[in-house]
Amino acid sequence: MTDRRTQLADNLARVEERIASACAAAGRPREEVTLIVVTKTYPASDVRLLSELGVRHVAENRDQDAAPKAAECTDLPLSWHFVGQLQTNKVRSVVKYADMVHSVDRKRLVTALSTAAVRAGRELGCLIQVALDTESGAAEGTTGPRGGVAPEGVLPLADALAAAEGLRPAGLMTVAPLTGPYAGRPGAAFDRLMEIATDLRAAHPTANMVSAGMSADLEEAVAAGATHVRVGSAVLGVRPRLG
Ligand SMILES: *Cc1c(COP(=O)(O)O)cnc(C)c1O
Repeated sequence: MTDRRTQLADNLARVEERIASACAAAGRPREEVTLIVVTKTYPASDVRLLSELGVRHVAENRDQDAAPKAAECTDLPLSWHFVGQLQTNKVRSVVKYADMVHSVDRKRLVTALSTAAVRAGRELGCLIQVALDTESGAAEGTTGPRGGVAPEGVLPLADALAAAEGLRPAGLMTVAPLTGPYAGRPGAAFDRLMEIATDLRAAHPTANMVSAGMSADLEEAVAAGATHVRVGSAVLGVRPRLG
């Protein structure tokens, strides 16, 4: 029976190998891609082990779980990323520990995050979550089942982020769609995300993060040009419950 630390170290090594091969295959330097380990549903003790093993970026998707976990880990040199759908009544809590929010998908959230960030005296990097489930429909308010704004809603939201105190537009995030024209084609979805990212950078040159790729499709994301991959189960194991 292997202990948890060894298990996590082995899994991390395998994920690192996958990222390195994907970078090599794409002709990209390894340093262009940052690994974010998604620790949702796993305990603070795992976060601590991951930190000891060299992980510097962790992500969570539910404030109820993330807030106490982050509070137990304030002594660790970690950046916390919030990647879940975010309700405005949770932003006051989230801005206390999150350095990055990947799931900005509506104006109201920008306003709420800005107010909370200013109040907390923090500056927050914000990624706009793009829903690629459908390519049609109106911009704002057209969110996919798992959150996200339609592609045409990205620039208006980026402008709002740039104008908001305490926030800065940092880039784009997506989850490979389960429905619509990109279902089962993560590579095509991530290529589309990169086109949108290019348009975004033209308007906001520092918004250059592209957060895409999870345990099942990190290779496709790296091939497309992702700068950040969000990997959960390949590092921590299959989650004990939905999350
Ligand atoms: C859970 C989650 C991940 C990680 O998914 P795995 O398949 O476990 O690697 C990445 N991004 C978001 C937004 C998530 O909710």
